[in-house]
Amino acid sequence: MKEEANPEGITVKKDDDFSEWYTQIVQKAELADIRYNVKGFIVFRPWSVLAMDRMSDLMECELQRKGHLPVLFPAVIPESNFKIESKHVEGFLPEVFWISEVGSEGKKLEEKLALRPTSETAMYKVYSQWVRSWRDLPLKIYQRCQVWRYETKATRPFIRSREFYWIESHDVFATKEDAVKQVKEDMETTENVIHEKYCIPFLFFERPEHDKFPGAVHTYAADTMMPDGRALQLPSTHLLEQNFSKPFGIKFVDKDEKEKYAWQTCYGPCISRIFAAVVAIHGDDKGLVMPPEISPLQVIIVPIYNTKNRKEILKKAEQLMKSLESACIRVSVDDRENYTPGWKFNHWELKGVPIRMEIGPRDIKNKEVVLVDRSTGKKKKVKEKDIIKSVDKSLEKIQVYLMKKADKYFSDNLHTAKDKDDLKKILDEKGGFVKIEWCGDIKCADAIKEETTGGVMRGTLFGKKEKASGKCIWCGKPANQTVYISKQY
Ligand SMILES: [Zn+2]
Repeated sequence: MKEEANPEGITVKKDDDFSEWYTQIVQKAELADIRYNVKGFIVFRPWSVLAMDRMSDLMECELQRKGHLPVLFPAVIPESNFKIESKHVEGFLPEVFWISEVGSEGKKLEEKLALRPTSETAMYKVYSQWVRSWRDLPLKIYQRCQVWRYETKATRPFIRSREFYWIESHDVFATKEDAVKQVKEDMETTENVIHEKYCIPFLFFERPEHDKFPGAVHTYAADTMMPDGRALQLPSTHLLEQNFSKPFGIKFVDKDEKEKYAWQTCYGPCISRIFAAVVAIHGDDKGLVMPPEISPLQVIIVPIYNTKNRKEILKKAEQLMKSLESACIRVSVDDRENYTPGWKFNHWELKGVPIRMEIGPRDIKNKEVVLVDRSTGKKKKVKEKDIIKSVDKSLEKIQVYLMKKADKYFSDNLHTAKDKDDLKKILDEKGGFVKIEWCGDIKCADAIKEETTGGVMRGTLFGKKEKASGKCIWCGKPANQTVYISKQY
């Protein structure tokens, strides 16, 4: 059968014009509607919501496995809570949406309410009532919710908007050692879920002093790389130490009967933003390519029939679907009458479903089906009796293939610059993360950003001792840190 051109297909190549490709895929794969009439707010459509739900489920499952429990805190934070920790206020105040009045008469609220931009100041006020004794610790809690920030940078669907969906965990410990351990556990969670399930590679950087989370002692952020060589920040985990427990009064009576301030961490994987990385990194010129672990559907069955054999073939397709469902495979039959098989092929390729199963009259006679792998386009015939085994194996293979492919692109784009000009040249021509030596002076970091038109310091690589031995790439003074620079979203 001849496959007809898809009227709703993407018309640019990802490598030629990534920005336009991204705009088109968001619209044509029906991920979001950007026409909502509030600036910076978008409508998340079913296909992206289904995928993000799977992503959140996997993340929650991992958090719960590591002892976190879910809560749901109010979306509003009274101004008095919000202003308790001064650096936090300073950092977030410019981005807060406030609720100040109610009803039709413009009646003023007694106290202004912030729509949470993040929940430290909501939760920690309550934590100060929950934490009394060492027996209450550790307290490991998370919530899956949306937050609001008045972004002034240009917004892009999933990448940056004024409302986004995330999971935030906020943990309290009796000792600093336990808090430091939690930061490492958060990094392990990031690896287990974001790399292994979503197939998104990243590096953890310790952010420099001038780019920490407002109120944190240390900020560690996982950065991935988009297809245009610019970094996208994924989750960050923060060692808050006692910066919040002191102003919020989170203290406990320890085993030695002394009253002590608690130690805290927080971790915030932004699911809607990570979804942008999934779309951008795995997608190709035909559309999305979904990793099997998070695809809303893993198999789409497309029956190929005419008016005479329609009933028989649909019956077979339903049978196949039921048997795959019994093996916990997410599957559906596209039995829509008004569309040709070729149109359906294109449609599900655009949606990125990992496996297409074709079944026609000849296949029924031969007791077989055709499987098409979305990630490679490879086709194979499979005997009906081997279907479950074969589909399972293919899904596993696709998952590994996508991870390796993404890992390769990522490692191919790690560079080292030998001098100023080299740094500019790499950032302009290739992008990616560029390793440099730095003196530690913020003036050099600012000058780099200015003169490379947007090369931002990611920080030092976590967990790998990279000693600086030479001179600062910018000012020539002795370097004391090896850091990475990239352009960013
Ligand atoms: Zn310098």
